[in-house]
Formats: sequence, structure tokens, C-alpha cells
Amino acid sequence: MMFKHDYEKPQVSSNNIEQTGVKSAGTALTATELSDAELIRYARQVLLEGWDIDAQIRLKNSRVVIVGAGGLGCPAAETLARAGVGQIHLIDDDVIEMSNLQRQTLFRPTDIGEFKAKVAAQTLQSINELINVSYEVARVDATNAAQLLNLEAGSQLRTIHGCPNLLLDCTDNFAIRDLLNRLSVRYKLPLLSASAIGMIGQLALFEPSLNTGCYHCVFGDSIQSALSSASQADTESFDERTCANSGVLASTTALMGALQANTALQFLGLQSNPLANKLLLWDGLRMTQRLIGYRKDPSCAVCASY
Ligand SMILES: [Zn+2]
Repeated sequence: MMFKHDYEKPQVSSNNIEQTGVKSAGTALTATELSDAELIRYARQVLLEGWDIDAQIRLKNSRVVIVGAGGLGCPAAETLARAGVGQIHLIDDDVIEMSNLQRQTLFRPTDIGEFKAKVAAQTLQSINELINVSYEVARVDATNAAQLLNLEAGSQLRTIHGCPNLLLDCTDNFAIRDLLNRLSVRYKLPLLSASAIGMIGQLALFEPSLNTGCYHCVFGDSIQSALSSASQADTESFDERTCANSGVLASTTALMGALQANTALQFLGLQSNPLANKLLLWDGLRMTQRLIGYRKDPSCAVCASY
């Protein structure tokens, strides 16, 4: 694939997906120990009270799929890569623009015009050669999502890497958020969803296998309202209008991405959910963080029948 080095977004279709395993060595799928290099690199983590070798090995054996390599995806993915998550797969179809550099921490001015997923994956791999990083340049939609997220039996990625342990929603798109939640529920794939706008952020980790509620249980009305508005016009233009009109402070995405990584590391390494049935709300203006409880909606349009 040729990469354009201007501001025009390359056309990406299902037949034009850029996919690569940036590095294939370094991480066994079912590792039972850490190498000397890993023990040295992750020494400060293994020394942490409550975080032992076994936790680090669980990270090594973990597979995460991150949808969105932007303001949230960059800091979240970087922390997971540095911490030793064994397999990280990025999905994004955008190209890097000048206005992204304010908050999308894996990119430099020389990357403008390149695909975010590709540059982010290469950067992450260069940060930590002991893990496997892969990417796909693709826009997740209802027709390709299950395959892209490696959820359908027989898909190439599933054969190579197995099903993901955790899905990180790092998008800023209502339709994709809704789609990822539906897939999470259907395939019982844990969904770690973060959002950032202005100086506020939200974070939740849904575990469908526990049947304790989903993204739609919490945000159902707002999702339907947003999708309804979008249906009145072209969905693509609605999303662009939303992003263009709603600014975000650089620190908001950095913080929410870090909180997302913090939650992911505990979930993958310690097998615990610090946000079980809780929604985290961050207010950067007032410097407050609140946890609000939620329950499964027995009439939820997405998860009630599961
Ligand atoms: Zn639900």
C-alpha cells in the first residue's frame, strides 16, 4: 500500500486492509516463566507489593485489541506495551493530521499523512521488543467487526493469536461504541470503555460473563439520542462534526488513557476489576474523580436476553 504524505485521507475498504504482525518473536502464547530480559525490564513492577511473577506472566500471555489509535489509544497502548502486555493489536483507519499532535502521544510531525495504526504499532514495538504488536488499517463496522476483533472462529488472527482477553474502546464515535458493546455482550468479551471530551472523562469495564450490565445499560438513552441524530444526516459527517465542535484538553486524553491502562493492567495481571459495576467520572476542571454505581438494566436492548 502506498502512503500519502498529505492531508488527504487514503481510501480504505475491506479489500484494502493493511495488516501486519510487526514482530512475531519474543512472546510464547502460553508462557510459564519470564526470561532474564523480562525480569530486568519489569523489575519495578514485579517488586510491587501485590504484583508478583505470576501477575507479570499473565500480562505476558494477555492479548488486547485496541480500537482507536488516537488521543486515548496512544497513552493507553503505550503504557500496556511498556508494562509487558504480550500481544497488542491496534485497529484504526485514520491518518495522522497536524491537529492530532496536541494529544496523540505516539506521533511526531514527520508522521503526518501516515496511518495512525501503522505508526503507533511501529512505535510501540520499538519501545518494547519483548512483546508482539500488530495492527490493521480498517474502520470497524457491523460487517467486519467480528473478524477484525478476532471473534469469529476460523479468522486468520484467531488462528495465530487466539481470542483477545480484553477489548479497549478508545474511539470517539457513538456508532462504533455501540457496536463494540454489542460484540462484547455477544461474545462475552470484556470491554474497557473510555471517553474524553473537554476536561471530563468517563471509564468503565464491563464483564459480560458476569451478566452485570453493559455499556447500553449505562448510556442507553444517550446512545440512542446520538444515533438518532446521526441518522438524520450522514453518519460520517455527524461524527466529524462532533469531533470538530467539541475540543479536548491534551491532559484529559492523557489521563483517561492512563486510567484505562491502569484498569487493564489490574484486570489482566491480577484478574480483578477495580471498576466492577462502577462508572468512573473524571472532572479535570474541579480535579475530582467520582465512582457511580450502575446495575444491569433488565430491559436493556443489548444484554437483557443474554
Ligand atoms: Zn445492557
